[in-house]
Amino acid sequence: MYKINTNYQKLPGNYLFSTVAKKVAAYKEAHPEADLIRLGIGDVTLPLVPTVIDALHKSVDEMGHAETFHGYSPDLGYAFLRDTLVEKVYKPLHAEVASDEIFISDGAKSDSGNIQELFSEDNIIAVTDPVYPVYIDSNVMAGRCGTYDNATGKWSDVVYMPCVRENNFVPDFPKRTPDIIYLCNPNNPTGTTLNKSVLQDWVDYANREHALIIYDAAYESYITEDDVPHSIYECEGARTCAIEIRSFSKNAGFTGVRLGFTVVPKDLVQNGASLHDMWARRHGTKFNGAPYIVQRAGEAVYSDQGQKEVKEEVAYYMRNAHTIKAGLADAGFEVYGGINAPYIWLKTPEKMTSWEFFDYLLDKAHVVGTPGAGFGPSGEGYFRLTAFGSYENTLAALERIKKL
Ligand code: PLP
Repeated sequence: MYKINTNYQKLPGNYLFSTVAKKVAAYKEAHPEADLIRLGIGDVTLPLVPTVIDALHKSVDEMGHAETFHGYSPDLGYAFLRDTLVEKVYKPLHAEVASDEIFISDGAKSDSGNIQELFSEDNIIAVTDPVYPVYIDSNVMAGRCGTYDNATGKWSDVVYMPCVRENNFVPDFPKRTPDIIYLCNPNNPTGTTLNKSVLQDWVDYANREHALIIYDAAYESYITEDDVPHSIYECEGARTCAIEIRSFSKNAGFTGVRLGFTVVPKDLVQNGASLHDMWARRHGTKFNGAPYIVQRAGEAVYSDQGQKEVKEEVAYYMRNAHTIKAGLADAGFEVYGGINAPYIWLKTPEKMTSWEFFDYLLDKAHVVGTPGAGFGPSGEGYFRLTAFGSYENTLAALERIKKL
C-alpha cells in the first residue's frame, strides 16, 4: 500500500492567488460588464526584447542541423552563460563568484523551493513576514515548520520576522535563533529594501550563529538607489553564509521562457560537507538542464544591446510604479515600495482588513490587487499593487481609485 506525504495535508487549502482568481471569476460572472484592471499577480506583460528573440531564432536554427545540434546541457549549465554571468553580473559589483559556483536552472521558484532539500528536517527556518509563500510552503512539504494555527496564521516552528511600517520594513534579529534565514531583497510583496549596511549586519549575524542565508534577488534589476546591494556577495563574509538565487523573469521578461540560477559558494561547508557538492549532486540527479536555446537567450540579455533593451522594459514598469505610488500618495493613501521594486505596498484605509479592501476595490473600482494578509500575518492591513500592467491601464486604475 502506498503512503502519501501527509505534510501536504498540513498546508492551508487556499493558495493566495487561486483564492484571488476564484473571487475575481465569481465577480465577473455576476457582473459580466465590469471592465477589470488586473494589478494583482506579479507577471510581466511586455514582449521579449528583439535581441532575445534574435538569439532564440538563431539557436533554434542551430538545433535543426546535426553539426550544431545540442542535446542535454552540462549539469551546471553551459559555460558560455555561467562565464557571462561572472563577467557581467558579479565582476562589476566586485563580488567574488566563480563560474563553477553558478548553477543554471529553470527559474527562481524551482530553486527557492528545492534548496531546502539539502537540510535536515530539524532546521528552524526564519522568514520575513509578509513573505513570498514558496519559502514556507516548500519547507512544510518537507516536514519542517510544525503545525499551522488558523487563528494566528502562523506555523509553530517558523520564526517570523515582521516587516511593517513601525520598523521601516527592516526585520529585527529574532529572539529564537534560526538555522536558515530567507531574505528577499528587494522584497516581494512589500517592495521595500535592506540597504548594504543592514544586509552586512545580517551576514555578520549569520556567520556568528552558523546560520545560512538564502538570498532571493529576483528583483535586483529594479534597484535605483545606490545604497541597496545588487548581490549579497557585495557584503564581506557572505561566501561563508549565503546562497543567492536569481531569475531572468522580471529583468528580461522570461516568465514564460524559464531561466534562473543559484550561486552556491564552495566556502559553504558544514561538518565537512560542501553545500556546493550537495547541490551539484542534486542538480545532476534531479534536473536535466535548462534548454540550450533558452540559455543562449539568457546570454543575449547580457550583450550591450540586450542590456539596453531590457533596461528600457524595466524603466517602463518603474514608470508605472512611480505613477501608482505618487497617485496614491496624492489621494491620501500611505504607500511604500515602488522605488527599487515593481511592487507598491499600501496601508488599507479606514482600518479595513486586506480582504475587505480587496472586495471594496474590486467592486467599486474594478481593480484587482492582492491582499497583504495572503503573504503572512504581518501583511494584514496592507495591500499589494504591481507595476506590471500597461501604462494606460495603470493610469486608468489610478483614476478609478482616486475617484473613490
Ligand atoms: N522569487 C520571488 C521573490 C518572486 O516574487 C518570484 C516570482 O514572482 C520568484 C522567485 C519566481 O521567479 P521565477 O519566475 O524565476 O521562477
